[in-house]
Amino acid sequence: MKNGEPKPGQPVPELIPERPSIPKVRTVARGCKACHLYKRGTQTVFGEGPSRADVMLVGEQPGDAEDLAGHPFVGPAGKLLDRALGEAAIDRTRVYVTNVVKHFKWEPRGKRRIHAKPNAAEIGACRPWLDIEIALVRPRVIVCLGATAAQALLGRGFRVTQQRGRFVDSPLAPLVTATVHPSSILRAPDDASRREEMAAFVKDLKTVAKAIRTPR
Ligand code: SF4
Repeated sequence: MKNGEPKPGQPVPELIPERPSIPKVRTVARGCKACHLYKRGTQTVFGEGPSRADVMLVGEQPGDAEDLAGHPFVGPAGKLLDRALGEAAIDRTRVYVTNVVKHFKWEPRGKRRIHAKPNAAEIGACRPWLDIEIALVRPRVIVCLGATAAQALLGRGFRVTQQRGRFVDSPLAPLVTATVHPSSILRAPDDASRREEMAAFVKDLKTVAKAIRTPR
């Protein structure tokens, strides 16, 4: 670590080691206190996957299960994501998965911890972790999952409902696209709409599968 143990409010760029690698930055990020969310979540949930991956999936933040496990996309939404990747013929073990915010932000409701949307300051504070992940993993395709990730990476005017499944110009990677977050499919009001939304999600992922099969 550059400057010893991270201090509360110490910005992320000051924590990134001089010769970074994914294992090194993951280790340092464990102690991150750059925004107040470190007090709320159980632990930093850093991205996971191959150090070089064709596809990087970027969600909003870890959920309740991820916060406890310390791994991204291992809860119900992650299981649905695994199924959708399988249906789209994308090898899950070759995908790097991460979030724009690395701590779980939640509000108490009875005994439950309910997801709370991260604000612009929290997203901004955490963004350098994602930037270093992108720089090191060098994905060919970045897929933003849900509006928070899409707007953080592609601008506040980006509308997932209207622009999902299409590749957009971005300096972040050769191919960048967005689709829904798998948790939105779990929240569908009934089985019929859940099936419909799952089919649309798989269709978006198939576009990604086709792109990575195409020679550079
Ligand atoms: S949410 Fe991100 S910036 Fe904030 S403390 Fe956690 S890792 Fe650091």
